[in-house]
Amino acid sequence: MNLRMQYARPRNLEQATALMDALGTGTMVIAGGQELMPHLNYGRISPSVFLDVSGLSELQGVEETAEGVSIGALTVHRQIQTDPIISKSLPLLAYAAKQIGGGRQVHNQGTIGGNIVAMHPLYDIIPSLLALGAQVQIAGPEAIEIIPLSKLLTEASYQLGAKELLTRIIVPPMDSAQSWAYKKLKITTGSYSSANAVAIVDSAEDLNVRLVVGAVTELPIDLTESLAAEMKNSPNSELDVQIETACNAAVTDPISDQRGHGEYRKAMAGVVAKRAVNAAIEKLEAK
Ligand SMILES: Cc1cc2nc3c(=O)[nH]c(=O)nc-3n(C[C@H](O)[C@H](O)[C@H](O)COP(=O)(O)OP(=O)(O)OC[C@H]3O[C@@H](n4cnc5c(N)ncnc54)[C@H](O)[C@@H]3O)c2cc1C
Repeated sequence: MNLRMQYARPRNLEQATALMDALGTGTMVIAGGQELMPHLNYGRISPSVFLDVSGLSELQGVEETAEGVSIGALTVHRQIQTDPIISKSLPLLAYAAKQIGGGRQVHNQGTIGGNIVAMHPLYDIIPSLLALGAQVQIAGPEAIEIIPLSKLLTEASYQLGAKELLTRIIVPPMDSAQSWAYKKLKITTGSYSSANAVAIVDSAEDLNVRLVVGAVTELPIDLTESLAAEMKNSPNSELDVQIETACNAAVTDPISDQRGHGEYRKAMAGVVAKRAVNAAIEKLEAK
């Protein structure tokens, strides 16, 4: 443990990015601390400086903008669950946040920004954001940029939490004609996913499905294009078979842990994906 650990609490974004730049290696951003404090308590991390961003107004609030719903990175899960703008425009995200375990402390302290930056394969928020086509705003010492969330997940060059800050998440509002479902397969109430899937369906006639499967591989898998290709190439197959085929082909390196062995997870990817798509279609037909 680093006994000389320091604490800094910048007053604004400019001060925060300048501090991150000046302090260098060993600096660790802390927001709600729901991810970091357990690691600190177990002695797994030992930062030289904790940079507490919880006072930055630039990372707060939920607002409707021309680009979409802009969600401050400091927005806690409880607010995602209950905020009127999110409930109206992004009901899928509100529902996914309600599936987070950990109880009131995690819901009232854990932030959407911390959840994204942690990039934990079993967490609940990223699959929905990917399906919704979210973008993220990142602030570094030199510039502020907006990139697709999918790019953040796959490019290793970003140093969020050490050199850069996730400031806002920008999500296109859902169309009220769309139907959606999030299915989380878990061992017990409140536990992490063994597999999860998000489906968004635009229209029942010309079936257009957005499908993301999470908690099966290190990163969520966007199956939207491969499912569309499968539906085009095997038009006579049942939808369930098409989903199963797309999942089987995409899950090549499943994770194994106490919530499920890789083979089980690979099999469950198809199961949970079918449940999500069928639930979304049923909701659409009931409209
Ligand atoms: C008991 C328990 C159960 C949980 N169950 C679930 C669950 O079922 N589903 C689920 O999805 N999650 C679950 N979580 C995880 C929880 O949702 C996340 O830990 C939480 O959202 C992290 O947010 P935070 O603000 O506390 O992050 P912190 O702990 O403050 O930080 C997490 C990481 O993100 C970085 N960071 C934070 N904010 C920023 C920022 N704005 N810019 C750059 N870097 C940043 C930090 O440097 C750190 O690396 C659980 C957590 C606990 C403790």
